[in-house]
Amino acid sequence: MKRRTFLSFLGVSGVAAVLPTEGKAAPVKDFAGHPDAVGVLHDSVRCIGCRKCEAGCQRANNLPMPAQFKKPAKPFDDLSELDKKRRTHFQQYTVVNKYESSKGKTVFKKFQCNHCQEPACASACFVKAFVKTKEGPVIYKPNLCVGCRYCMIACPFYVPTYDYDSALNPLVYKCTMCYDTRLKKGLLPGCVEICPKDALTFGKRSDLIKVARKRIMDNPGLYVDEIYGETEMGGANWLYISPVAHKELDQPELGKTSAPELTSGALGSVAMVAGIWPVLLGGAYFISKRREKQAAEERDAAVRAAVAETREEAETRLNTALDKAAKEKDAEVAREVKKTREETAREIEAKYNPPEPEPEEADAETEKNTEEDA
Ligand code: SF4
Ligand code: SF4
Ligand code: SF4
Repeated sequence: MKRRTFLSFLGVSGVAAVLPTEGKAAPVKDFAGHPDAVGVLHDSVRCIGCRKCEAGCQRANNLPMPAQFKKPAKPFDDLSELDKKRRTHFQQYTVVNKYESSKGKTVFKKFQCNHCQEPACASACFVKAFVKTKEGPVIYKPNLCVGCRYCMIACPFYVPTYDYDSALNPLVYKCTMCYDTRLKKGLLPGCVEICPKDALTFGKRSDLIKVARKRIMDNPGLYVDEIYGETEMGGANWLYISPVAHKELDQPELGKTSAPELTSGALGSVAMVAGIWPVLLGGAYFISKRREKQAAEERDAAVRAAVAETREEAETRLNTALDKAAKEKDAEVAREVKKTREETAREIEAKYNPPEPEPEEADAETEKNTEEDA
């Protein structure tokens, strides 16, 4: 959907009518999704891996540029970054990866939240910090988040990321389809607007599926006959078409069963499934928190005891060393005094009581004196 079509779409539906309400992960079988929900189609035949969508996402969400990342990365116009497989992180909600396919083709795929129709992240979040809107985007409410990170474990695409560097207020981050920052203002998602090759198409999900089918039909041999995201895990609002099998682009092979349906199947024998799942998760969370608290207290006590013991040992060693030094010093002084006294005594003795000459020496002296007298 181009900008003009998009705006006319909003004109018909009305931004207020399209965007303000919230849906929720619907734990029902064969949920067809909200009829007017919007989404994005990514076409890997058109994508040239220019990374402009990455830069557009940063700008749209007021995120820092790579040089300002906590772990600095290469700038968005440096395409050597495509040589390694990357994931999103808390300062970057989308990345483009390069694949060498079995057909000898170089193919690019953009990665971000797929905005699942029945999101596993939302069904795992017992405080409802993740919400599936009726308009399509899956959004996140940081004020409700307790930081349990069940959403990260639940997401089959490994999308939600966590700010481990923030000690005081670590939160979860992911693509929001620019719900608050642009869609509500009648603007296209930042990545869609900037893409120079129309590799990203925004529109109603039902229309995007028709567009994707038409491209596949009109270009025999150019695309594989599969729209990834149409049915996987109950379907997603971000869809993909590709010249090679989607699994070659790291798309996980998932069944059609949605996450909430899988959950209800696992707990099917338990009465009041819908109520008990948050209780179980909540219980697990608080038990794990209590264990963490106990472990932290035990660790602190052990550290305090070790410090006290080390300090006591250090003081004992210091006192012993001081005693020894004092004793050695006293002994040294005493030795020096004794030595000086002895030397002085010897000098006095030599000066005032010279030793008597030996008898033979005395006789020789007398004879010498007699001869001289004679
Ligand atoms: S801006 Fe468009 S063409 Fe460039 S990498 Fe992103 S999706 Fe592909
Ligand atoms: S891709 Fe993951 S984070 Fe995004 S809506 Fe689906 S389950 Fe949630
Ligand atoms: S929809 Fe918005 S938040 Fe999501 S990848 Fe595109 S620009 Fe980023």
